[in-house]
Amino acid sequence: MRLDISKIKGNLNSQMDVNFDVMLEENDDIEIDFIGPVHVNAVITNTEDGYDIDGSMDVSLDAICYRCLKLFRYHEVIELHDNLNNYEEESGEKVFFNGGNQVYLDGLIRTDLLLSLPSRYLCDETCRGICPDCGADLNVGDCTCNNEPIDPRLEVLKKFLKQ
Ligand SMILES: [Zn+2]
Ligand SMILES: [Zn+2]
Repeated sequence: MRLDISKIKGNLNSQMDVNFDVMLEENDDIEIDFIGPVHVNAVITNTEDGYDIDGSMDVSLDAICYRCLKLFRYHEVIELHDNLNNYEEESGEKVFFNGGNQVYLDGLIRTDLLLSLPSRYLCDETCRGICPDCGADLNVGDCTCNNEPIDPRLEVLKKFLKQ
């Protein structure tokens, strides 16, 4: 979606609120199951360095916990801080249209979001994961495996007995 920024154009330090959704399509470089669009709530400020965008990206996706391997709904509000001119220069993606009166921010949001998302997901800070021996979900209850840490002194003894 193109946003009209003409009302802050030419007025240093003037700001405008923007609210829009970006639909992220799954493709080769995104293997993420997004649930609905990313909601962007931000302020664009006309600065000496171009246009700053500051706000948040509200994202929901289906993730798999790396500890217990369960599918869960990940929802996060991620901070957004970027500069439209710098982004256009660095990425080579065109942001400004119609003589700079309109901006198209989908690419910027997509890039910033992918850089901000975690590389792996945890369903809960307290997730106990699965037992490496029997595969039981330890969040449900303890399994019958003996997962007591082995006493290093006993290890030495075991090696000794094997010889
Ligand atoms: Zn988990
Ligand atoms: Zn077990």
